[in-house]
Amino acid sequence: MGLESARGRAVRSLTRSFQRSAETAPAKARLALADPMARRGLPEAKSELRFPVSPESRRFYRRFWPDTTAAEWNDWRWQLRSRIRTLDELARIFRLSEDEYAAVSRHKGSLPVGITPYYASLMGLNDSQEPLRRTHIMTGEEYVRSPGEDDDPLGEDHDTVVPGLVHRYPDRVLFLATGTCSTYCRYCTRSRLVGNPGGEYQFSTKQWDQAIAYLQQHSEVRDVLLSGGDPLTLSDDKLDWLLGRLRAIPHIEFLRIGTKMPVVTPQRVTRALVRVLKKHHPLWMSLHFTHPTELTREVAESTARLADAGIPLGSQTVLLKDINDSPAVMTPLMHGLLKNRVKPYYLYQCDPIRGSAHFRTGVDKGLEIIGALRGHTTGYATPIFVIDAPGGGGKIQLAPDPVMGREGDFLLLRNFEGKIYKYPDPNGALGRVF
Ligand code: SF4
Repeated sequence: MGLESARGRAVRSLTRSFQRSAETAPAKARLALADPMARRGLPEAKSELRFPVSPESRRFYRRFWPDTTAAEWNDWRWQLRSRIRTLDELARIFRLSEDEYAAVSRHKGSLPVGITPYYASLMGLNDSQEPLRRTHIMTGEEYVRSPGEDDDPLGEDHDTVVPGLVHRYPDRVLFLATGTCSTYCRYCTRSRLVGNPGGEYQFSTKQWDQAIAYLQQHSEVRDVLLSGGDPLTLSDDKLDWLLGRLRAIPHIEFLRIGTKMPVVTPQRVTRALVRVLKKHHPLWMSLHFTHPTELTREVAESTARLADAGIPLGSQTVLLKDINDSPAVMTPLMHGLLKNRVKPYYLYQCDPIRGSAHFRTGVDKGLEIIGALRGHTTGYATPIFVIDAPGGGGKIQLAPDPVMGREGDFLLLRNFEGKIYKYPDPNGALGRVF
């Protein structure tokens, strides 16, 4: 039996035992189990059951937060409060390289360092080249500006119709609900606006009102993607209010949330949150995954809770040099996502934000990965590879070209093994040279 399936079984049995205890408890206690706020009076052992803690995470917090209880560790607010944000905190946990130390020291402004203790527990503490660590602790390369890079490479500011609302495509909008994330990715497309309260980009409920008023007047909009920042850093009440206001607009058919929290702070997916989200269907979610290391038993729990709430889950992954740019890394990630009921959706070529050259691969690398997945595994495990066109051109899909030309009325097609097949296509234009 593989490690993955052993982990899956442990999660299922934990979840089942939680459900059993919730089902057989007297009514008052049942209410308390369902409501984390009301759960305070119950013995800690029961409250601990609300989220699995992997042995690796337990070892980690006992080492670095020895006074912390499992209940605190499983409280997403504790995770946010305890984020690793300063050089001293980083140095307490990681053996920093000179490059990391110097780069963190000179940082100012948006996209600060921010790592939840849970996510830090997945990182290499002594290895500055460990993939997840590289995505969250800055290096000197971040200060090098290369040709073609920009602070706002996708031209979102240009398409901003009211503060925080980007209306580029005809029938859908991007609603930037907050500038806060639970962790800050060094390659973030919105590095200009996240993690910098009081800076040029501000987020407030007054701003939400303006965006909602715009949407009420624009009946062509049928699809709202809530993003930021990470919308799940908002409290349940605020999220409920915002989703409710959007859902009340008759022509909005469909809501989506783009979030990384179920991956980097899976404890955020409380039963209370799930009850809020379920009120606002049809609601879809895009989850930001990077590497198979993220597929822990905690993430198995957060994704299971969301999927059980009827929320279709898709993934988005940024292709990152020396982090996930090989079939050997990407294939288990995509397979693991399917096992967690997340459909691999987008593989993004890394956007050319300022100081990101060290993260970007050649575009051919993405095609190589798609070529290694397509046909070799189920189509469900194969994401769409896209470049978000600089300057606001939108997403452009790339795929290995299977058309090899023609032989008279036959189209020549290459399959996943590189073999050529003929398809009768006497009336087709594809593959003809005019
Ligand atoms: S979670 Fe998303 S918005 Fe936040 S820093 Fe990472 S990529 Fe940017």
